[in-house]
Amino acid sequence: MSLCDLTAAHIRAIAPYQPGKPISELERELGISDIVKLASNENPLGPSPKAIAAIEGALGEIALYPDGNGFALKTALARRFGLGMEQLVLGNGSNDILEFAARAFLGPGTSAVYSRHAFAVYPLATQTVGARGIEVPAHAFGCDLEAMSAAIASDTRVVFIANPNNPTGTFIPAPDLLAWLRRIPVHVLVVLDEAYTEYLSEQDRYDSLSWLPEFPNLLVSRTFSKAYGLAGLRVGFGVAAPAVIDLLNRVRPPFNVNSLGLLAAEVTLDDADYLARGVALNRAGMLQITNGLRRLGLDYIPSWGNFLAFRVGDGAAVYQRLLRRGVIVRPVGAYGMPEWLRVSIGLASQNETFLSALADVLERSA
Ligand SMILES: *Cc1c(COP(=O)(O)O)cnc(C)c1O
Repeated sequence: MSLCDLTAAHIRAIAPYQPGKPISELERELGISDIVKLASNENPLGPSPKAIAAIEGALGEIALYPDGNGFALKTALARRFGLGMEQLVLGNGSNDILEFAARAFLGPGTSAVYSRHAFAVYPLATQTVGARGIEVPAHAFGCDLEAMSAAIASDTRVVFIANPNNPTGTFIPAPDLLAWLRRIPVHVLVVLDEAYTEYLSEQDRYDSLSWLPEFPNLLVSRTFSKAYGLAGLRVGFGVAAPAVIDLLNRVRPPFNVNSLGLLAAEVTLDDADYLARGVALNRAGMLQITNGLRRLGLDYIPSWGNFLAFRVGDGAAVYQRLLRRGVIVRPVGAYGMPEWLRVSIGLASQNETFLSALADVLERSA
């Protein structure tokens, strides 16, 4: 028996997360520049200028450990969202928050419920701690709330749900979500992943944080990676009842959020102008891309996020052909959608490059 064979079977069974292809990797492979990456739902504006200025001013301090409690950022979040400090936990990306929920609430002999076509980290976090994943069939690529609550077993401790969902972009209206939450047993933690909530229109926007007093079993996770433009610095946060947060803090590694990330998140939180520019750019780009796909005669799933899933037939083949034209999108075969690709909404020029490369590849005229 080798060292690695002695690891738990549930660890060896994990299929690693497949990230979007980095620009530098495609450059190396093809020897080309001018690559357009629309693969990881990053903010095409780049970071807020305020974040860059703050980081430049703080570079001299990186020999010091960060504030392990993230006091300044938590204070800013508490003020911004009307929360108590004891309702907040910070993560190295919101990915950390999902992992903490799994570590604290799941383990062998328990299960987690999530939808088909849901974010890949839910099954990963579940498997890593030796819990059983219960994948619930989707309805029109979105969460089937009825089926999800019906799937809760006696050993279920966590339900993961993203609103909007990635990679499908589907959205659950707030009244439906709230009514569903009221039917979930209080001994089951609902992890409501709101990575894209900032992109919702005024009409769809809702305040899940105001629901927290009613639900001791609700954990809302949010991120600075998408609308706040800080994916590379890895900052996210969770909001829940103090008792839940206390447990998450016990499994949180010390110093999990770096000092530049803490600072950049704090200043970007107050940069309303930056946020508004990104959201407006996304709205215009979404229109540009959906119009373009319609001209190409392609189906897509209406999206509430900063990305769009569209159907091309052989997703893996079209992905490869787009790569050769210097356009990186995201194959979603691993999400049970082999006929689909996902494209992130970019700058107008990037969206145009994507659409014309796609027209080329499919030999259709735009
Ligand atoms: C991008 C994304 C996240 C956030 O990841 P970070 O770790 O915060 O960068 C979380 N959930 C979903 C559904 C996402 O798409």
